[in-house]
Amino acid sequence: MKRLAWLLLAAWGCFAQMTAVRFGTLVDGRGQTHRNAAVLIEGGRIQAVTSASQPLPSSAKSIDLLAYTGLPGLIDVHTHMTYVRKPRPGGAAWPSSARVYLARENAAKTLETGVTTVWDLHAAGDASLTMRDLIREGHMRGPRMFVCVHGIGRSAQGPEEIRQAVRNQVEAGADFVKLFASTGSYNDVSGDPTFSYDEIAAAVEQAHKLGRKITVHSYGPAAARDAVRAGADSVQHPAELDDDTIREMVRRGVFYVPTIDHNRYYRDIAPTMGWPADTGKKLEEFIGRNLETTRKAFRAGVRIAMGSDAVNDMFGQNTRELEWFVKAGMTPAEALATATGNAAEMIGMADRLGAVAPGYLADLVAVEGDPLADISAVVHRVRWVMKEGEVVVDLRQ
Ligand SMILES: [Zn+2]
Repeated sequence: MKRLAWLLLAAWGCFAQMTAVRFGTLVDGRGQTHRNAAVLIEGGRIQAVTSASQPLPSSAKSIDLLAYTGLPGLIDVHTHMTYVRKPRPGGAAWPSSARVYLARENAAKTLETGVTTVWDLHAAGDASLTMRDLIREGHMRGPRMFVCVHGIGRSAQGPEEIRQAVRNQVEAGADFVKLFASTGSYNDVSGDPTFSYDEIAAAVEQAHKLGRKITVHSYGPAAARDAVRAGADSVQHPAELDDDTIREMVRRGVFYVPTIDHNRYYRDIAPTMGWPADTGKKLEEFIGRNLETTRKAFRAGVRIAMGSDAVNDMFGQNTRELEWFVKAGMTPAEALATATGNAAEMIGMADRLGAVAPGYLADLVAVEGDPLADISAVVHRVRWVMKEGEVVVDLRQ
């Protein structure tokens, strides 16, 4: 028996390739910084975090990143991966299949920012579902996607229709549910509620009944207040959250996804878009209110997660949001947590994403410099990315 056990172990050693990734510094996403660390990986999962100076198993393949700081793979909790601005001859919209093909670039650019997981918050047709599955099966290079399929908007009316709309999305394959509960998007920063409290509550109840988290789009404070009171898991965008709502978010553990930077993106492109002349100014004012709300919510203890709301050529800038969070009063470590531990918890995956620890998926990022001293190391100096044990980005000289 002993001999058989040994033979089995030896055979296993031949098949299962162990990889050891060695970092000069490792920020593990759980509040610990390890100097001279080795992350041992097998089968796409982290087996152990040890010292780089310890002898490694002889069959292990070693990747030397001692000149870099290692981080957990980052999570962007608000993308529109399949939005592309590539006009079709004749001006008609591309079908979903073409969008998925054209979105390869968005996916690649997202990986280059160190983001290995996204929550995709609306797409046309079945584009996001298709893209999610192609990536999952290894046919397409990109971050791990979780999708809401379609965000539920005003075409559903009344609690019954809204419950049905939630069921439809989940049946279609939605990993979570999104509700558009106010006006406001790209060049429009109005935040007028589009659903009543009862309608929002119906959506929340149905989503939870089906075992799905629900996130609510609200530019203004009113729909966010209703969403929080109705039991939503997170709110996207809102500026000018009132004090009672902020207190309630802390008490209930509702996540706030400010998405400040996407309005910076729209402000930057405004002059080329043919929008009304005052659009840039309105976006700028909204950014100020959004930043102030983030500062206030953070001080009060609201949990915050990083969502870029990236579309089109904003991909590649997914993590610029972290610079706004530092402006809002976070330390670089606190900002980093919004894209690691907090984000993992918000999407219900804190047991496998957002940390470098045994049992977690082997998603790792190497950056140049010290991200705990200067967040721009994360935002602008990602050099290497691993997703589930596979190197997906290598920009080292
Ligand atoms: Zn969005």
